[in-house]
Amino acid sequence: MAAQSLGYRVCVLDPGADSPAGSVADRHLRADYLDEQALREMAATCAATTTEFENVPARALEFLARHGVVSPAAASVAVAQDRRAEKAFVRRCGLDTAPYVDVSSVDELRGAPAELFPGILKVACLGYDGKGQAGVASIAQALEAFASFGGVACVLEKRLPLELEISVVIARGFDGRSVAYPVAENVHRAGILAVSTAPARISQELALRAIDATRRIADALDYVGVLCVEFFVLADGRLRVNEMAPRPHNSGHYTIDACVTSQFEQQARVLAGLPLGSSHQHQAAVMLNILGDCWYDHLGDAQPSAAPREPDWNVVLGHPAAKLHLYGKREPRRGRKMGHVTVLAEAVDEAVRVAVQIERGLGIDVQRAAARR
Ligand code: ADP
Ligand code: MG
Repeated sequence: MAAQSLGYRVCVLDPGADSPAGSVADRHLRADYLDEQALREMAATCAATTTEFENVPARALEFLARHGVVSPAAASVAVAQDRRAEKAFVRRCGLDTAPYVDVSSVDELRGAPAELFPGILKVACLGYDGKGQAGVASIAQALEAFASFGGVACVLEKRLPLELEISVVIARGFDGRSVAYPVAENVHRAGILAVSTAPARISQELALRAIDATRRIADALDYVGVLCVEFFVLADGRLRVNEMAPRPHNSGHYTIDACVTSQFEQQARVLAGLPLGSSHQHQAAVMLNILGDCWYDHLGDAQPSAAPREPDWNVVLGHPAAKLHLYGKREPRRGRKMGHVTVLAEAVDEAVRVAVQIERGLGIDVQRAAARR
């Protein structure tokens, strides 16, 4: 939609029939990401290609890069696709991650240092929204989780006491110039982003450190496009890089309504070789994710068998400074991101106050959402 607003035509490759991007694009190629005919058609149709999802096989991007502009590059996407490569890369940049080890066999897991417990076992590839993760208190539990993931490559990471989670979205052009957005403060429930507040209520010093670290990663990757880096903040203010996303990110959705240039427009500008836009934030914002759960829980009927019902969107639209974004996904499922709400205000506290009212009105069950895992 952002590219279309700049006058471009858009072609989307997505295997899903229910594809939100496919439904608004000028053309939807409904095929597998590695379908050769579809890739050839993309290459013939598109001057530039980007990805909205990091699990698009690097091979598909490499193929397209032989025919036109592709950003981010397959090599950057590949780093973010594998937690082992990602964490090693972050450390090579001189930045810290949570303590972890790579685990590709039962023996390796048995040899994991005791200080990593309690920890989290995460599959190295294809995990998202907390999927492919298990909290493990002991080696025995870790072995059980490893088996339940089918013995695929994992990382075992120490569970850190988090003061806060924050993220930085940055856009970097072909000329190496970059523009960072104000830092967002993120609350996750059951491993899924629930709320982002921007600007984050943190010191300027911490915000600058997070932006510097993000820029360092983007420069080291010679990254082109929109990149998000998620951080953990520890009680003493130290930062740990959690992970990165080589694309516009959920924690940057607030930029659609609260900034001069949205993260999506920035991606379109980079691809088209246009100058980057201003990342200036003109209002404080709270972004609430709307999960499929709202279709079931909003009237207090939390039985798993209840039929889904459309939430009462007037709860959102009744607030003049709340903006509703629904992605047009047909099937509401628990834990599935169906849309989001952005609340705008002059001050962060006011945006938070309204956001809390909207959460209550939509029946977002904070306790239940946090306990799901
Ligand atoms: P995903 O790829 O699913 O987003 P993450 O690794 O970002 O996976 O984990 C999701 C969330 O789980 C994090 O945002 C954080 O809230 C929590 N989490 C993950 N790793 C740790 C950790 N080492 N210590 C504490 N909390 C963690
Ligand atoms: Mg994450």
